[in-house]
Amino acid sequence: SAHFDVPALRAQFPALHQSVNGRPLIYLDNAATSHKPLAVLTAMDAFYRRDNANVHRAAHTLSARATEAFEAARGTVARFVNAARPEEIIWTRGTTEAINLVANSWGASLGPGDEILLSTLEHHANIVPWQLLAQRQGVQIKVIPLTTTGELDLAAALALLSPRTRLLAVSQVSNVLGTVTPLARLIAAAKSEGALTLVDGAQAAGHLPVDVQALGCDFYAFSGHKLYGPTGIGVLYGRHDLLEQMPPWQGGGEMIRKVSFAGTRFNAPPFRFEAGTPPIAEAIGLAAALDFLTNLPDGWRQHEADLLAQLCDGLDALPFVRRIGRPSEQVGVVSVTFDDWHPQDAGELLDQMGIACRVGHHCAMPLMEALGLDGTLRFAPALYNTREEIAATLAALARLPEFF
Ligand code: PMP
Repeated sequence: SAHFDVPALRAQFPALHQSVNGRPLIYLDNAATSHKPLAVLTAMDAFYRRDNANVHRAAHTLSARATEAFEAARGTVARFVNAARPEEIIWTRGTTEAINLVANSWGASLGPGDEILLSTLEHHANIVPWQLLAQRQGVQIKVIPLTTTGELDLAAALALLSPRTRLLAVSQVSNVLGTVTPLARLIAAAKSEGALTLVDGAQAAGHLPVDVQALGCDFYAFSGHKLYGPTGIGVLYGRHDLLEQMPPWQGGGEMIRKVSFAGTRFNAPPFRFEAGTPPIAEAIGLAAALDFLTNLPDGWRQHEADLLAQLCDGLDALPFVRRIGRPSEQVGVVSVTFDDWHPQDAGELLDQMGIACRVGHHCAMPLMEALGLDGTLRFAPALYNTREEIAATLAALARLPEFF
């Protein structure tokens, strides 16, 4: 990471340069949401100042400009995930809405006897939409258990897959443990049983390279705000031949070809799944974030890995800290508990020292239950964090016994 110029990078993130509670902000809550570089702020500001218009429908120049930028953003996302064509990219509000889209549209064809395979470490966004589907249509949910290190139990997963499995829906990276799941093995096994596959990439897309064709998944979901883009925008990638067969899930403008009270014909993907005025400025902001990320100088992934390793080593050296999960491949986050204190109290003390982290169940209550915990304190460093910030965080943790 000596080649990766972190101060120059940080200069592009205005929100990093502030004091919180009289101390310089150390922002380690990037798994919840990341800060935004000037490139994103500028792109969205420029859109509203100059090109603002609704897309697709008007005859005027501003609308043509807005449409061009909006559809170019779709192309940027398609390249970012290596989709075969831009029509495979559907705009959503985020990962949550992307998964709900699949559950409501593709899921409409499922019924009793069909199974959906999830894992214990899923975020509620990849659990509750399937539970709603199960309630509506009698679908069964099966759950891949974890090993003691916080990894998916691959042997158990293979045993749970069967010809009844219609969908394997798993995270690429856990938002609590940082576990990188064995997607290649899981997707191959699911395919051999004839199941489709959905990847929750919310915690992965900002850290690992994403290649939906190499993964061989049928659906891939992620959120803009976790990879330096704006809130209110996310992506569902779906294989084109599947999208063509899927019914709409929300009705309105944009998603139709012809509307008549005698019957309505629907538009082709992706528009079939984008009823109403889309988040135009947000799509443009997300494309700016992806351009920013893909044009970063080499070394940022190694820098992130170095920060996480420094943090994990430092945590292990503190006798009163218990690190949760030791997966063989870990990205983005590390969770801890304390022998004698509640994570909430520790989080509040860290905030007093300017350090932003997250406490609680992290929208993964089934995982908490499996771990026998009611919450953790989670650190989520990102590419703009520094070795000095990690050292300062570890020093702050070392001082916690003085306060309790
Ligand atoms: N899945 C995972 C693994 C996540 O970490 C998150 C965000 N915490 C989500 C889904 C939901 O993302 P969003 O709230 O942006 O829809």
